[in-house]
This record gives sequence, C-alpha cells and structure tokens, in this order.
Amino acid sequence: MPDEPVASLSDVTRTYGGVPVLESVSLAVDPGLTAVVGPNGSGKSTLLRVLVGATEPTAGEVDLPGATGPKPIGYLPQRVPFRDGFTARETLAFYARLVDDDPDAALDRIGLGDAGERRVEALSGGMRRLLGIAQAVLGDPSLVVLDEPASGLDPGMRERAFRAAAERADGDTAVVVSSHALDLVDDHADRIVILRRGEVAAAGPLDRLLDEHGAADAKELYRVVVGEAAALAGDDTEAPDGDESDGEDKGSEDEDGDGGDSDDGSESDDDEPAVHVTGVSDR
Ligand code: ADP
Ligand code: MG
Repeated sequence: MPDEPVASLSDVTRTYGGVPVLESVSLAVDPGLTAVVGPNGSGKSTLLRVLVGATEPTAGEVDLPGATGPKPIGYLPQRVPFRDGFTARETLAFYARLVDDDPDAALDRIGLGDAGERRVEALSGGMRRLLGIAQAVLGDPSLVVLDEPASGLDPGMRERAFRAAAERADGDTAVVVSSHALDLVDDHADRIVILRRGEVAAAGPLDRLLDEHGAADAKELYRVVVGEAAALAGDDTEAPDGDESDGEDKGSEDEDGDGGDSDDGSESDDDEPAVHVTGVSDR
C-alpha cells in the first residue's frame, strides 16, 4: 500500500477581509515531525488552524485520511485558554476522562509531575505551555498540531517541549509544530515547511532542502529562502522569560486587534467561537 499522508491540504486559500493570509497552499503531512516556520504574520497559525479544522479555508480542501481513532487530532493553540481555579492535574483529568487517558502519566511525560497540585493560573507561562502540550497529546491522536510549543520557555523547557513533540512522531503519527526555534528544528524535525507571506516558499525533508539550498542548518536555510531582510525582521528568538505572551507574535497580535496581551484564548476567528483547548476536534 502506498503511504498515505496523515493529512493534506490542496490549494488552500484563506482570506480575512478579502486579504489572503494563506494562498494556494498544497501540502502533504506525513508521519514524523514537520516544522512550520516563517516570519511573524506569514500565516503559520492560520495554516495550523485550517489543518485542525478550527478555521475554514476560503477555498481549497483539507483531507485527513490518517487522522483516525477516538481522538483524531490534538491541538495546542498559540494562546491556551485554561480555566482558572483548577489545578494542573484537575485540568488534565477533565480532558483525560474524555479520551480514557491517564492524567498523571501525561503530567509526568512533560515533566510536570511535581506541579500537579498547582493551580493553572499560578503556573509560569512556560509551564502552562507544557501543560497545553500534555493536553494536546492526551488520547494519542494521530495528528498532533502544536502552535509555537517552545515559545516563552527557558532553554531546558523548550528542549523538553520539542522532545515531547518528537517522541509522539512515530510510524503513523504526524506532529506539526510551528516555531521560531530553528536550532530545535534542526535537532528534531524530519520535514520543514517555510511560509512567506501566506505562500509555501519551500517544503520537504529538512536534509533534502538543506542540500538543495546549500545551507548548513535550518537557520541558514531560512535566511536563504525567506530573504535576509525578512529573516532579520522576523525575530527568531523565543524569549526564555517564562511568559508566553512574549511578543514574538507582535505582528499578528497588533493586526488582529485583540489587545495583544490576552491569555484567555481569544484567538478569535470571525466565523467561529474560541478554539477549544481540548484538541478534541469537532470534525
Ligand atoms: P503567524 O502565525 O505566522 O504569525 P498568522 O496566521 O497568525 O501568522 O497571521 C497571518 C496574517 O493573518 C496576519 O497578518 C494576521 O494579522 C492575519 N490574521 C490572522 N487571523 C486573523 C483574524 N482572525 N482576523 C483577521 N486577520 C487575521
Ligand atoms: Mg502564529
């Protein structure tokens, strides 16, 4: 049997107010770890939301032939709307029950075993991010989509976040991660998708693209493909300050007018309610 992708996008366009944010994007998402990179505002989050069904494409098709099982898709939005007042363990337990998974194992996997009794609002931005990853992968979905899982994490935590993502990416599980952390992309990604102004500028196995562009690493590849000026403007830091609203996404936060600092999941899309953090897809 020829390998079927876990997910595919065919000629997907998404516009906001008539302005294309994604333009004719076609992609096959295979098992393994795929990193989606690109400057702020290039459409990474929109691409990920379209992939998980949180945003409808304006045109084109999304197919999920390999996203099967009781929980086909796990999704970590860029801003995670956890409900205050519950501990980390209670938060995971709520979702774990839905998919018959074990919240304690999930906490341990992400290195939060000791933080189970802490309330989510008392967790650092980085720990909330890790909790979000734990929650996204509950129930062992075959398509895991993480929007900037390493943002706002200190060096140890960002490594842990990527390692957790890479560990999920096995024979039939596709993990798609958007990130500015090009060093971690080098270490962990099998494939890379480089977005530039809503279009796929390059996509394929990381090794192959490095070869084709004569680049030594993902950072150099990014510079070659996106262009020097854009690469410098698209600040590739993920500030190790433990605050997930660390401004790395300034561009789109300003443009989408949500006041920037919201931490409450108001990833508002004009045509759908706030994305559910559970990662239990509505499809
Ligand atoms: P990235 O994740 O690469 O920073 P996004 O996908 O968040 O990029 O955004 C791409 C562009 O689409 C930005 O210009 C952003 O302002 C715009 N955009 C994203 N979501 C919305 C929305 N809900 N309404 C209007 N514009 C949006
Ligand atoms: Mg984004």
